[in-house]
Amino acid sequence: MADRPSGTVAAAASSGPGTISGNRGLMLEEPLIFEQGMAGRTAVDVPEVPKHQDRLGGLKRQNPIGLPGLSEPQVVRHYTRLSQKNYAIDMGVYPLGSCTMKHNPRLNEKAVRMPGLADLHPMQPVSTVQGALELIDTLAHWLKVLTGMPAVALSPAAGAHGELCGILAIRAAQVAKGDARKRILVPESAHGTNPATAAAAGYEVDPVPADARGRVDVAAFKAKLGPDVAGTMITNPNTCGLFENDIQELAAAIHSVGGYFYCDGANFNAIVGRVRPGDLGVDAMHINLHKTFSTPHGGGGPGAGPVVFSDALAPYAPVPYVVHGKGGFDLVEHDETGKAFGRLKGFHGQMGMFVRALAYMMSHGADGLRHVSGDAVLNANYLLAGLKDELTPAFEGTCMHEALFNDSFLDGTGVTTLDFAKAMIDEGYHPMTMYFPLVVHGALLMEPTETESRDALDRYIESVKGLAKRAKAGDKAYFEGCPYHTPRRRLDETLAARSPHLRWKPEEAKKAAE
Ligand SMILES: *Cc1c(COP(=O)(O)O)cnc(C)c1O
Repeated sequence: MADRPSGTVAAAASSGPGTISGNRGLMLEEPLIFEQGMAGRTAVDVPEVPKHQDRLGGLKRQNPIGLPGLSEPQVVRHYTRLSQKNYAIDMGVYPLGSCTMKHNPRLNEKAVRMPGLADLHPMQPVSTVQGALELIDTLAHWLKVLTGMPAVALSPAAGAHGELCGILAIRAAQVAKGDARKRILVPESAHGTNPATAAAAGYEVDPVPADARGRVDVAAFKAKLGPDVAGTMITNPNTCGLFENDIQELAAAIHSVGGYFYCDGANFNAIVGRVRPGDLGVDAMHINLHKTFSTPHGGGGPGAGPVVFSDALAPYAPVPYVVHGKGGFDLVEHDETGKAFGRLKGFHGQMGMFVRALAYMMSHGADGLRHVSGDAVLNANYLLAGLKDELTPAFEGTCMHEALFNDSFLDGTGVTTLDFAKAMIDEGYHPMTMYFPLVVHGALLMEPTETESRDALDRYIESVKGLAKRAKAGDKAYFEGCPYHTPRRRLDETLAARSPHLRWKPEEAKKAAE
């Protein structure tokens, strides 16, 4: 709390003279909810607790609980104001590469709020939730058709969770053949979750270099194969925004040593409706419903990462799953074959996300989904073409759904990728993804998605080009001060990550103030 800068200072440093309150129009200098709280104030009128025999014994709390006392309007204003300090997909272009921040259609929201879906309880008897099971089954069908894969597990709650699901199925399949094996081959350009998943499942991560074209080095990949390789995890389209042209050769190679091919399908948005991973030799692939099928990225809340499986891995997929029973739809909660690797989470998956994703699929239709991937790739290439003379593309040629630049256009300017990203905030944009993928120096990864209009892309291109020109013109000092127009300026991000203050402690605050 000690190094929390005062708003007046921040305001004075940025835009014109400081105000009396430290507020800048509607940008209020928001106190913590604990600072606003007052003992005894409350938003509800709770009846006096009747006298009763305390059965907590020594466990009874000794001190007050320390929750802030606030009225309802105070709470509403506080959280509304906080929400307005955040950038959101509903406010502007959100070019965060690798994350596919696309518009969330309101039709999805309408569907998910229908009482028959919104008021379900996961423990209701199966006979009372036939419609919900049919919805899950229909979603599963669409995912299988779109990927050309025969089975799908819907319970994983995020992309990374889906990866874990896939790797545990691979492990179970290897164990069934007699040996879990030791290594998983992971390209250097992989998303960070890939090696993390392999390691979490008890495997040794063996990195495979990228070649000069930003794709997996096939020769290096083949040289690493051996009888102790359980499988590989390859992202396609990869994190450089490029299609792995040699994917079938890589799939055949891993299969030749009895390994399985896990494809990270987070970038499915670039190929949906055009390419079926099942045709490429993939054994397991997760799909981020929150990327490809427009469900919200829940701010750490409910995501959904269904995993499709090949025939070889399908028997090892986790429970539960929906089947067509005699009297209607049924839910398989216990595996009779003994092959399923188990259960990944409580209940059946993120039902709200299933509804939204299916609403999205059905409102687009198969032809509309094909259009989505076409426009996503077109928009990314429009960005690439618009920026390539002022910025430096990391690789030659066209890209898939995201445009990747390195920082050589900033050489000699003293401006870093981080400075550049901070300057984008002042221009009204969420910064692009920076310093990722690691195989590209000072990477700037931009993904417009298909939902941006041409005007919006033109305005974005003009802003980014303008910043590049400003950097090259020697305005290093400007960039070092960015952002100027945010509630807080540059924070010590390392300290915040290493030493987070997550609890309000009045004593410490008092000490700091003295
Ligand atoms: C987003 C992403 C993931 C992880 O997905 P989460 O849903 O965030 O867990 C994995 N791989 C790639 C390539 C991604 O873009």
